[in-house]
Amino acid sequence: MQIKKGINVSPGVAIGRAVVIDAEDVRVPRRTVAEACVPAERERLRQAIEASIHDIEQLHTQAEATLGADLARIFDFHSGMLRDKHLIGQIEGLIDSERVTAEYAVYFVMRHQAEMLTQLTNNLYRERVHDVWDLERRLLGHLIGSTRAELSTLKHEAIVVAHDLTPSQTASLDKTYIKGIATDVGGPTSHTAILAHALGIPAIVGLEDVTMAVGSGDTVIIDGNHGEVIIAPDAAQLMKYRAYEQRIADLEISLDEMARLPAVTRDGTEIEIQANIEFPGEVRAAIEKGATGVGLYRTEFLYLASDSEPTEQQHFEAYMEAIGILEGRTMTIRTLDLGADKVASPRDMFSHTEPNPVLGCRSIRLCLQNLPLFKTQLRAIMRASVAGPVRIMFPLITSVMELRQARMILNDVMEDLDDEGIVYADNIPVGIMVEVPSAALQIKTFAPEVDFFSIGTNDLIQYTLAVDRGNEHIASLYSAAHPAVIRLIREVIQEAKRTQKAVSLCGEMACEPEYIMLLLGLGLTRLSVTPPAIPEVKKMIRSVNIKQCHRIARRVASFDSDREVFNFIRDEARKAAPEVLDDLTINY
Ligand code: PEP
Ligand code: MG
Repeated sequence: MQIKKGINVSPGVAIGRAVVIDAEDVRVPRRTVAEACVPAERERLRQAIEASIHDIEQLHTQAEATLGADLARIFDFHSGMLRDKHLIGQIEGLIDSERVTAEYAVYFVMRHQAEMLTQLTNNLYRERVHDVWDLERRLLGHLIGSTRAELSTLKHEAIVVAHDLTPSQTASLDKTYIKGIATDVGGPTSHTAILAHALGIPAIVGLEDVTMAVGSGDTVIIDGNHGEVIIAPDAAQLMKYRAYEQRIADLEISLDEMARLPAVTRDGTEIEIQANIEFPGEVRAAIEKGATGVGLYRTEFLYLASDSEPTEQQHFEAYMEAIGILEGRTMTIRTLDLGADKVASPRDMFSHTEPNPVLGCRSIRLCLQNLPLFKTQLRAIMRASVAGPVRIMFPLITSVMELRQARMILNDVMEDLDDEGIVYADNIPVGIMVEVPSAALQIKTFAPEVDFFSIGTNDLIQYTLAVDRGNEHIASLYSAAHPAVIRLIREVIQEAKRTQKAVSLCGEMACEPEYIMLLLGLGLTRLSVTPPAIPEVKKMIRSVNIKQCHRIARRVASFDSDREVFNFIRDEARKAAPEVLDDLTINY
């Protein structure tokens, strides 16, 4: 049994068998076997070699028929290696001397071969490295099954273990089968984190080398509440976690009753809870959980989950689907926020190699430099606006000039639609995300030119503290409780109120029960959160009274460090709603 600690980004517990996904590279953990099992490992190796030789002979015959004898000769190198006594002797020798599994011995020896080839100066030999990788995959395929599992075709329950998941991979996760996620990299608000949370799949990121420690088929426990992955748990751990899983399920059922109750504090302050969504398909669940509308639709996922640039019609259909399900509730469509963490890696449609993409041509900047892309989306939004109440929100606004430019393009689009006789709703509210300090400090300047503000703490924290939100190595520095972050939030809310503009907060901070009292105390009456978090947030709101929240916000202003702030607000939240915070702690 092994326990690894990472960053918990989506709560819950999942127990199941691992499927290890590798973007490019296969990693095989080093496993030893009992002395008595060594002959069995040698036999597995022999069978894998035999099966691989058989594959290659078949490929050779096929290639000869279709490509000719000359080209078919490429397979001679492969079968030559599989019959190379020296090479096979090295693999067998490792199994004998170190008592490792056949797959690890293949992996270790083939890696060594590949390394030696890459160091050669002769290009012809160096290129052979691809053949070595290919052979390694083939042998491993026969020993441990496919090493490159396809998430979208997975048809059995599994815990996905990966170095990282691209947005399109994460987007294709089917909750029926994917019970939990563990990744080597990623920070608290990386795209994998946000999507896993939205899908309600327990997830831990930033585990550094979990793909080295877990093999496909291993039993794994994901404890998304404490950020722990338990690999090959013993019977006692399994029993404890099964009971914990049941307690969480019971609590979820009791929290689901919240959907029908209003989000109102004990002393009568009403709070509006809207939903953050990435796909129209999430809207129904959001309403079922009690959302009063959509406060953030991350439309870039339309791009990230598809192979080609969506057409105006595809945008339009996605918006119409969501608006239809909302049945008159508000829909806030954020224009494309592509770039930085939101790229369709590895085949990024907009890949410019920038030295510093987080500070580069991303989000609204990318749209303003690529008008056809921007206008296509704006046309679709305007066309859909007649079907229900729609608001437009521009991301990553850093200066008022940028906002004016974006509004000018929107006016151009409206004029084009007028010329074409296409109808759209009048006076669509236009707002901005407040997610960089420069915008947070200029609310008064922005106020006359916008209808609403939405505070995006995921980026605001990143840009205020100079901490990459996706980097697991500095994740402990990424904190919503930092006094500088709280001060900015406080000033945005106060200034928005002074200028009588609506203000909401849609960063992940609003999904964490510990922060709810502070946010209400700072004066927020509107939050936008991922749908699975709605019941918990509502429960928190219904457990507190607003005077208590104001007192907490005042007290927090006197603290110097994020640790002091967080400890204080967590203790206060625990006192106000122990059933939300304490029932989710496991008894170790
Ligand atoms: C944010 O930055 O807080 C936000 C809500 O947007 P995203 O996470 O999509 O960048
Ligand atoms: Mg953002």
